[in-house]
Amino acid sequence: MNAIIVAVGSEMLTPTRLDTNSLFLTQELNGLGIEVVEKCVVGDDRTRMTTAIERALANARLVIVTGGLGPTEDDVTRDAVAAALGVTQSVDEEVLTWIAGLFARMGRTMAENNKRQAMILQGAEILYNQRGTAPGQFIQTRDNVVLLLPGPPRELKPMFSEAALPKLRAMLPPMSIATRWYRVAGMGESDLDSLIAPVYTKYENPVTTILAKPGDVEIHLRARATDQADAERLCSEVADQIVPLLGERIYSDDGAPLELAVGRRLLARGETVAVAESCTGGLLGGRFTDAAGSSAWFRGGYIVYTVPLKEALIGGPLPDTAVSEATAQALAAAARDRAGATWGLSVTGFAGPDGDDVGSVWIGIAGPNEVFAKQLKWIGDRSRIRALAATTALNLLRLQLL
Ligand code: AMP
Ligand code: MG
Repeated sequence: MNAIIVAVGSEMLTPTRLDTNSLFLTQELNGLGIEVVEKCVVGDDRTRMTTAIERALANARLVIVTGGLGPTEDDVTRDAVAAALGVTQSVDEEVLTWIAGLFARMGRTMAENNKRQAMILQGAEILYNQRGTAPGQFIQTRDNVVLLLPGPPRELKPMFSEAALPKLRAMLPPMSIATRWYRVAGMGESDLDSLIAPVYTKYENPVTTILAKPGDVEIHLRARATDQADAERLCSEVADQIVPLLGERIYSDDGAPLELAVGRRLLARGETVAVAESCTGGLLGGRFTDAAGSSAWFRGGYIVYTVPLKEALIGGPLPDTAVSEATAQALAAAARDRAGATWGLSVTGFAGPDGDDVGSVWIGIAGPNEVFAKQLKWIGDRSRIRALAATTALNLLRLQLL
């Protein structure tokens, strides 16, 4: 089954509000094996909404409309769906009593316009709202299944999961889903894609998705079959070809982020790390401490942004310029020694935007037996260079721990 989501609300056509309901719904629908083939955001305008819903009805079996179920004049979703489906709507006495009861419990009298929320489309099943007053509606016609859900995410999510999802599941053939999730560092998205695309493009099932952040790429495989063993087999067939191509660039296959992958390796070896950061200004330490349980292997660190602070950490004059191989090594060794850690990791570079050597970064690693540094050069804005520097430092340490 295919689905189209129509998110209703003029606020989501401003630069400040995003439609997040469709992201939640897409994830839930994909879990059922339903594919979202289109989505749109429409303002609170009856005519535009009717057009959008008519189009959706013609192009997908399942149409989910979120928002615009409130009591006010601009909440016209019910009217637009009724018009698009060509059905009438009428006040449902049971819903009206239920809404009046909610107001009575809050010690308030129900305003006249709240009665609008008791308008139910002909043939609809009512989805009661545990967190608000706007009921949802579930309508099945010859060609379509239409779901009306309230806009506020805290109302929509439980209503979908508890009331709508079981109804949808009952309409679908039994289906099993298998997934694989690989996270890769030290490789750009396009290099990675040219390496593995020859494999995954041969398969429609599993579906392969690639998501990229600076220095960090995720590969998701998702296979569907009528039974679980078949779904797993389909996933494995592709995974068994992709994994050897990427080798040790894969840092986790269970969703663990890079800092946790590094932390697990340190923990397994009974080792610890400390950091000295210049241009990343704490990002690297922040990444390490994002991982729960990091106190077992992260000792702490030093933000040494200026030359005097770098010298204070090293305990003497810098061996070379602030951004250099020798300084990166000295900072890493000093962080290791001062913190009493097994490993010291340092970052010093030019994050820009001003300067001649923007994007040039030295990462120092001081281990139990050796000290070295690696120079990296990136293009991009300040935040990209800083993010790449932190991710690359984590990955260089991970490779040392292999
Ligand atoms: P409504 O059901 O149109 O009265 O929506 C009420 C509130 O829910 C809005 O002010 C938004 O804050 C929120 N909302 C509505 N639609 C969405 C959406 N698609 N994604 C996230 N929040 C939404
Ligand atoms: Mg609205």
